[in-house]
Amino acid sequence: MRDSAYVIAQTVWGFPQTLVGLAVLLAHRGRPHFRYHGAIVTTWNSHKALSSGPFVFMNGSGNALEAKQSIDESLLVHEYGHTIQSLILGPMYLPTIGLPSVIWLNFPGFKHWRRRTGTSYYSFFTERSANHLAERVLNRPAMGSISGKSDANKLRKLSLGKNRPRAAAIAALGPEQPKAVRQPCWFKSGDS
Ligand SMILES: [Zn+2]
Repeated sequence: MRDSAYVIAQTVWGFPQTLVGLAVLLAHRGRPHFRYHGAIVTTWNSHKALSSGPFVFMNGSGNALEAKQSIDESLLVHEYGHTIQSLILGPMYLPTIGLPSVIWLNFPGFKHWRRRTGTSYYSFFTERSANHLAERVLNRPAMGSISGKSDANKLRKLSLGKNRPRAAAIAALGPEQPKAVRQPCWFKSGDS
C-alpha cells in the first residue's frame, strides 16, 4: 500500500521526471528490475547512475536477484534520496535539482575546481540533500555522505550494540569508508 502511494504520488505530482524515467525504463526494459522501498530499480552495464521520478538506474549484473545483491547499496540509498526529492518538489524537481546537478556534474569549471580542491561531488546541495533525506527515511548510510548523522564512520561508532539493523548495515560496508567518495550519480560521467 505504501509502495503504491509512493508510485501514485511520483506519477501525479512528479509527472515530468517520472515520464523521463519511464522513457529510460522502456529503453532498458530487457534489463533486470527490482523494487526498493517503492522505487523501481533497473540495473545496467554502465557505471553511471540515474534517478528520475520513481526510477533508478545503476550498475549491476546477473538476473534480478543477482543484480539486487550485486549493487552498491550505499549508492542506491543516495539515488533513493533523489526520488524523495522528486516526491517533495514534484514539478519543481527538474529545475531545482535535475538541472543544477547536471551543471555541477558537467560544467568543466566545476569539474576542474572539484579536482583541484579535492571537493566531493556530494558536497553540492542537490547531493547533500539526497543523502540527508534518504538516510532519514531509510536509516541506511548513503554514499559520499558528509553530514554528521549520515557519516558512515560516525554511524559505525554510534551503533555498537545499540541498534542491530543499523549495525548490520554498517557492518555490510566493510572497512571504514573515506568521507569524500566520488561515484557516478544523476546523469553524471565516470570522472565527476
Ligand atoms: Zn546524486
